[in-house]
Amino acid sequence: MELLKQRIIKDAIVRGGNVLKVDSFLNHQLDISLLNEIGKEFYKLFGDLNITRIFTIEASGIAIASIAAQYFNVPVVFAKKAFSKNLEGEILKSPVTSFTKGTSYDVMVEAKFLHTDDRILIIDDFLAKGSALLALADIVKQSGATLSGAGIVIEKGFQEGGKLVRSEGINLKSLAVIKSMDEGKIVFSE
Ligand code: 5GP
Repeated sequence: MELLKQRIIKDAIVRGGNVLKVDSFLNHQLDISLLNEIGKEFYKLFGDLNITRIFTIEASGIAIASIAAQYFNVPVVFAKKAFSKNLEGEILKSPVTSFTKGTSYDVMVEAKFLHTDDRILIIDDFLAKGSALLALADIVKQSGATLSGAGIVIEKGFQEGGKLVRSEGINLKSLAVIKSMDEGKIVFSE
């Protein structure tokens, strides 16, 4: 997605440890007109799959998924990263190792929000080693719903997540794939 790639070149900051900072438009301040274009692009890629629900993970995934959901006209369900008293009934969970924090935790969702007849689109901001996306896919599997696709805004193609997720047979599409970002220079695949 050209607009997104241009924005990454203009405003993203390469940090140590293979972290790309996109706080000015995606992870802290949100550029809503860019998010609208991202939502439209996801609809172009997955709009013919009769998606019934979008599934994401708090916190950054929520805004992206919510805006995309307006094009699909479906609800958004987000997995929670911490247990709270508000989580009740049957809970589906799966472990994640956080790429940015280096910690491990369970992502959780109430089973009642994912149905066996759902066709789910997972949406998230980044794909690095694949732990978050594979945990969401695992929860979809536990729910009995169909995982129709996974849409990622920025895939760091030099990390193993993309390969791992595609090898699981998941219909993964990323709007920008970064081939390398050595010495602060961002290079996209194709
Ligand atoms: P993975 O589970 O694929 O290793 O990492 C994906 C998750 O970690 C995403 O949900 C995202 O929040 C975070 N993440 C991974 N790499 C980056 C990065 O380079 N920059 C930012 N801002 N978040 C990242």
